[in-house]
Amino acid sequence: LKVVGEYDAMIVRGRTKVTQAVFEAGKKLKVVGRAGVGVDNIDLNAAKAAGVTVVNSPTATTLAVAELTLALMLSVVREIPRGDAGMKAGQWLKKEMEGTELWRKTLGVIGFGRIGAAVATRAAAFDMDIIGYDPLIPAEEIQKRGGKPVALDELLAQADIITLHIPLDAGSKNLLNADSFAKMKDGVIIVCAARGGVIDEDALLAALDSGKVAGAGLDVFVAEPPGVTPLVAHPKVVCVPHIGAQTKEAQIRAADDIASEVLAALKGEPLRWKVA
Ligand code: NAD
Repeated sequence: LKVVGEYDAMIVRGRTKVTQAVFEAGKKLKVVGRAGVGVDNIDLNAAKAAGVTVVNSPTATTLAVAELTLALMLSVVREIPRGDAGMKAGQWLKKEMEGTELWRKTLGVIGFGRIGAAVATRAAAFDMDIIGYDPLIPAEEIQKRGGKPVALDELLAQADIITLHIPLDAGSKNLLNADSFAKMKDGVIIVCAARGGVIDEDALLAALDSGKVAGAGLDVFVAEPPGVTPLVAHPKVVCVPHIGAQTKEAQIRAADDIASEVLAALKGEPLRWKVA
């Protein structure tokens, strides 16, 4: 707040909260750039009220998040962290470790946008059957992107593995909750590299404890860092510290994209990724 008044432009990642107070203090501010995709850390109404343009770099991290999603899926079904921890402790857990295959399992993709579609393409290479729920895009579009369009309840009932690729907003908060877990197959696997908050963490913990959910792969948490919560410590959970976009390639792409987009905004040129 002390220095923002000197600047015409500001570039942030996900953790910096660009609140109304920032817009009020940023008297010269013309543009805020988010290096990455999610803009839930930027008060878009306050930006509009202040006449400040908000841009992001939504395509830069798509592949990195899609690849991490597959990595989480495989880590959960083959218990790779458990095997590794055992080895490092001098244990040979071969008999205790019997995983499952992705082959011919039904993958339910919630949110069939850029990342959801990239996950579907890669999951197809594992011969998974892909179903998708995304009420905001046409059913034919989901089909074109490699998924069979279904209603949310159908997805919950049919999927062996459910992965979420939706933004966090009022409509998606706690999208997976106790009611949704009750509708799922016994032994379902949940993967989330979207945003903490799209899954009700208490409901997920209860579903893991009851055995309803056989395993979860989590990149994102309601509070970050979450500390060693019961969910993080759960033996059926594989978790990583919000590393979805953390590849060398994605970071360079995001930096390039957001720098050129912010410069375009300052020059009044046409914008590719105007959010507000
Ligand atoms: P996108 O806009 O291309 O796709 C999101 C899709 O979700 C859209 O097709 C939209 O119609 C759909 N959607 C929105 N609300 C929904 C709802 N309630 N139910 C079902 N579908 C819904 O965005 P993307 O580039 O694919 O990114 C998806 C999300 O991934 C981002 O919003 C962000 O929160 C998250 N993300 C996480 C990381 C990470 O580091 N883990 C990095 C990048 C993005």
